[in-house]
Amino acid sequence: METTTVKAKTLSNFIGGQWVKSATDRYEDVPNPATGEIMAQVPVSTREDLDQAVSVAKDAFKKWKKTPVPQRARIMFKYQQLLVDHWDELAKLITVENGKSLTEAHGEVLRGIECVEFAAGAPSLMMGQQLPDIATNIESGMYRYPIGVIGGITPFNFPMMVPAWMFPLAIVAGNTFVMKPSERTPLLANRLAELLKEAGLPDGVFNIVHGAHDVVNGLLEHPDVPAISFVGSQPVAEYVYKTGTSHGKRVQALAGAKNHSIVMPDADLDNAVKNITGAAFGSAGERCMAAAVVVAVGDVADELVDRLKQAADDITIGNGLEEGIFLGPVIRPAHKDRTIGYIESGVEEGAKLVRDGREDESGSEGGYFVGPTIFDEVTQEMKIWKDEIFAPVLSIVRVETLTEAIEFANASDFANGACLYTDSASAIREFRDDIDAGMLGVNLGVPAPMAFFPFSGYKKSFYGDLHANGKDGIEFYTRKKMLTQRH
Ligand code: NAD
Repeated sequence: METTTVKAKTLSNFIGGQWVKSATDRYEDVPNPATGEIMAQVPVSTREDLDQAVSVAKDAFKKWKKTPVPQRARIMFKYQQLLVDHWDELAKLITVENGKSLTEAHGEVLRGIECVEFAAGAPSLMMGQQLPDIATNIESGMYRYPIGVIGGITPFNFPMMVPAWMFPLAIVAGNTFVMKPSERTPLLANRLAELLKEAGLPDGVFNIVHGAHDVVNGLLEHPDVPAISFVGSQPVAEYVYKTGTSHGKRVQALAGAKNHSIVMPDADLDNAVKNITGAAFGSAGERCMAAAVVVAVGDVADELVDRLKQAADDITIGNGLEEGIFLGPVIRPAHKDRTIGYIESGVEEGAKLVRDGREDESGSEGGYFVGPTIFDEVTQEMKIWKDEIFAPVLSIVRVETLTEAIEFANASDFANGACLYTDSASAIREFRDDIDAGMLGVNLGVPAPMAFFPFSGYKKSFYGDLHANGKDGIEFYTRKKMLTQRH
């Protein structure tokens, strides 16, 4: 991304409940990916900015951790209401900074709201456990406490849902929070902060420091930040996990993916094609739960490929703000170039290009569009199978049995999601038992768990022990004290 010193529509950091100008002289443009129009400049903040935010958050922690849990939860109730009231506005902000369609953006806001609703159950979530008689006249109990200042680092592809996996639960548990949103989608983050303040969150409990590597490294090395939640690409997740843990922090780092959808010969093809098309090309394939690979089992392959191509041909491409648009742009010109590079490599490595999305089919000017692309006869030697492309590119693989299909999927370095299309109970059982992936779907496209369950990737899709969301989330954001007493 080009850096600029133009200061029009300059964004600020949110520290101690105030908009604070960064100490930096470096700014990055924030374009609308559907038009190329520059909407804002985001500061590439400095360590000094970060240190200020952590210091404010550390100070706020002293009082916030002692604020009664029901009182903290009540702020979440209020926040939930504000998010519902501002649903449309938030969805539009997501569409203009990320590019996904307004329908998808509305769905994303809902996923975020659910996280807040889950967090509002804090009085139950924060409960410990007691055993009155562990020995004669001796009882023991576990008490749950917050940890301190949590650092959150988020990606561009879900500007609302991913931050909402982190800060509502972290805060309601009594922690304070410093978030470093993606520099490519900083606008919605600022709005989330404003609404938190409006909901009555005390100043300093939630802070935002915009920027890139310097802020991330500052969080990873800061002695006053005991825990880091990260979501982003695999190499950065691995780096964040290793660096954070080597500085003595607890780290959860959710990473990239290459999700396989297995289609059995008995599958309802109308349903399979509809769901795979939505999961492969929705949000321009920029989803960690995107259907990137279809594994066609037995004689289903020819008809499946024809129907997927037909469905891809019918997709409407353009600015996600417009009515009826399904496929928006990818996030940046560099990402478009990278995707085209992958399509070229697929052709060179001998995959059969069934549909070519390299030509801009959007009819709009200035946006970063890639059309739906489908490769057939993909093998494990090809880069288009090995790597996460994170764009509307679908690979199709042909095998003879379910066991072979599962082995094929399990050969991937990634293990985030996987889907099976079938009516067979025994096939579902074999799939559930033997597939490596942590988030499984049967006869549906994007099996992303809701806020009450953990977001369960494995292998190179996740670094850490406790996943985001659900009970794992509350475990991650709290520490336990055991009290044993004699009476
Ligand atoms: P990214 O890794 O480029 O960026 C994520 C965050 O890390 C950003 O805040 C960015 O500023 C920061 N960052 C980037 N490079 C860095 C570096 N070298 N050092 C320090 N910090 C750095 O990811 P992205 O492109 O914004 O998001 C897409 C990726 O996120 C995809 O790989 C996708 O699969 C993954 N993702 C995973 C999940 C999941 O639940 N597993 C969910 C959403 C997205």
